[in-house]
Amino acid sequence: MTQLFSENSPRYNLHKQWNDDRKEAYLYERLSNDKVRCILCPRVCTIEKGSVGFCKVRKNIGGRLFTQNYGKATHVTVERIEAEAIFHYKPGKKILSMGNFGCNLDCDYCQNWTYSQFQYTPPESIQEYTSEELINKALSEEIEVLSWTYNDPAVWFEFVIDTAAEARKRGLLNLFKSAFFLNPEAVSELRKVIDVFAVSIKAMDEDYYTKFTKGWLGPVLEGARQVYRGGTHLEVSNLVVTGLTNNNQNYDKMINFVMSDLSPDVPLHFTRFHPDYKYMQYEKTPLIDVENARNRGLEKGLKYVYVGNAFESPGLNTYCLKCGEKLVERFGLTTNVSETIDKSGVCIKCGHRTPMVF
Ligand code: SF4
Repeated sequence: MTQLFSENSPRYNLHKQWNDDRKEAYLYERLSNDKVRCILCPRVCTIEKGSVGFCKVRKNIGGRLFTQNYGKATHVTVERIEAEAIFHYKPGKKILSMGNFGCNLDCDYCQNWTYSQFQYTPPESIQEYTSEELINKALSEEIEVLSWTYNDPAVWFEFVIDTAAEARKRGLLNLFKSAFFLNPEAVSELRKVIDVFAVSIKAMDEDYYTKFTKGWLGPVLEGARQVYRGGTHLEVSNLVVTGLTNNNQNYDKMINFVMSDLSPDVPLHFTRFHPDYKYMQYEKTPLIDVENARNRGLEKGLKYVYVGNAFESPGLNTYCLKCGEKLVERFGLTTNVSETIDKSGVCIKCGHRTPMVF
């Protein structure tokens, strides 16, 4: 892999400074000639001494692999759990969303590109935190859920694992929102500390992944299956990009995957794209497109299909499958849980049990 920045770049100095402030990576192998192989994600980058992997935040220093983003955050924000395309787990709850920098993908339309692509991250946006500080912040603001999100928490692996484990001991829950381009061993480790997974599948097409994300599809699907088989709460989303994935073929493949490889009970979210990064030439996804995708999913037998990044739509709400009662209403940034659903997820009007967790 390559040397990252020229010596004149402020980010070069940042990396240099971080050489003294580093955390050894959890998943890697040492090779001959002081090379290392990172095994966190399917790229399995072989990295020479002094160089970084594709994600730009894992560096070979002296023949060992170190993460350079441990305890460094670009965002620490209070949000609502629905912002993570999670509708069936503690609806309306406040979460503490935390983002970092670097990514093991490079999607042309990335909605967080200034942080996912480290070469564009403003150094002044990076703040230092300990696990303890973040946990205390959540507790002091009466927040129950830590959310690992934004750039892609995959490359924040060591800090996520350590903080999530500690947070659990202190009574907090952990949500992991990711494009899930990870090796099975990493998913296994995450499952030990994560309570909710929001998996973003870009498209059900290998060529699409290669061309627009610089990754590949197989490991993402296998990761989703692994989470589902393991029984951790899972919701799947698909960013519907105007001109790329706003078509029936994409919708149907996504729907079929959730139906056949996961379960009709797993919520599927079709979310709207806004123009960003290298995709400024396309308009925001029309609401009607994600509503059409949702209708196809329901017609084909999925039980819970939602629209995302919308202000108002019936596709944001949760309805009882048996009697049609509106159980959760979502509008803008507001979530109203109806009194017609009890805390065990049962519709009080007709007795139907939903898979919702309160
Ligand atoms: S996490 Fe980064 S360094 Fe490791 S294999 Fe993936 S892209 Fe390469």
